[in-house]
Amino acid sequence: MMKDIYLDHAATTYTDRRVLKEMLPYFNEIYGNPSSLHETGRKAAKAVATARAQVAAAINAKPEEIYFTAGGTESDNWALRIALAGKDKKDCHIITSAIEHHAILHACQQLEKEGCAVTYLPVDEYGRVSVDSVSQALKPNTVLVSIMAANNEIGTLEPIREIGAILKDKPTLFHTDAVQAMGAVPVNVEDWGVDMLSMSAHKFYGPKGVGALYVRKGIKIVSFIHGGAQERRHRAGTENVPGIVGMGKAIELAQESLSEESARLTTLRDKLINGIIERIPEIRLDGHPTERLPNNVHFCFKYIEGEALLLSLDAEGIRASSGSACTSGALDPSHVLLALGLDHGTAHGSLRITLGHVTTEDDIDYVLDTLPGIVERLRMMSPLFNQQEGGKTLV
Ligand SMILES: *Cc1c(COP(=O)(O)O)cnc(C)c1O
Repeated sequence: MMKDIYLDHAATTYTDRRVLKEMLPYFNEIYGNPSSLHETGRKAAKAVATARAQVAAAINAKPEEIYFTAGGTESDNWALRIALAGKDKKDCHIITSAIEHHAILHACQQLEKEGCAVTYLPVDEYGRVSVDSVSQALKPNTVLVSIMAANNEIGTLEPIREIGAILKDKPTLFHTDAVQAMGAVPVNVEDWGVDMLSMSAHKFYGPKGVGALYVRKGIKIVSFIHGGAQERRHRAGTENVPGIVGMGKAIELAQESLSEESARLTTLRDKLINGIIERIPEIRLDGHPTERLPNNVHFCFKYIEGEALLLSLDAEGIRASSGSACTSGALDPSHVLLALGLDHGTAHGSLRITLGHVTTEDDIDYVLDTLPGIVERLRMMSPLFNQQEGGKTLV
């Protein structure tokens, strides 16, 4: 039988069966509008309240600090707007990193057009932001520091707790995009010292199109979407009740299995990383060797194109990603890889393999059996490779 091995869990995950089961009644049995005062509406409102408590519990927040959104992108955009609330944009400074998701980077570029000053901190060769660089970039008018908890391409975990510590007694707000971290590593807003945190259900076996923004109590919130009085008047629009219910259930399940699953994935991840390094020459492991997401494997293969690699793997039933799903199809190499200091050529030959709940050791063995042959074949066809003497003496 043709293999069909999904190894792109950083792009999205399937919705867990138990999550789907929890959601289904909210489509056609308990279909009330949570704003309605009657019993049908109250039942839906109760389900939303339960999910809010589940999400809050997972990150050590209070339910009233959780706002449901349409996903990670909206949460990220909203966090930036909240930091600017009531301020003159032309006198506002934001610090972020060069390797953020486009939901932060492109939103920051928009804010620059509106007059804000933005500092994009560089990262080291492993993709880590230095805590000192955050301190040094702080100005009296820095309204926000936004640094992701874990990078979606190379899996590097950022020093969130350490950055939180230096911002603790400062008026500057601290936001983290924890979309990749949720369900993968422990997330605790008190321990991390963050004021705002973004998450998205479809990255932890929940449904697509629903996420949340945590906003620490006491922070002035500006509405991002105007209309009805939902989400305590801060995020208008009838709630995505089935989605919110699914998100609550998914986060609860993720909490239950987190330590066991992350240990299992770390073992498989390291087997795959070491196996690739043993079998294939002229490669570079991207991201931090240990401070990385338990499910992330990312390499650059010299002399070949990531897209060609991706499609060859796809033909063998292996679903991976070249760089990140959002940039696949674009010819520009990933901004994350360039920020690591890689040249364009190397950055083009990138491959991201992200493991998940369904990944087995057999899957890893299959990748290790399949990948070296594909890389060799593509290199033999590559003009870049053939310029080297017999394809042997390489840089
Ligand atoms: C996927 C992702 C997002 C965007 O989330 P959506 O729910 O797809 O809008 C933002 N940040 C990171 C780090 C992501 O991985």
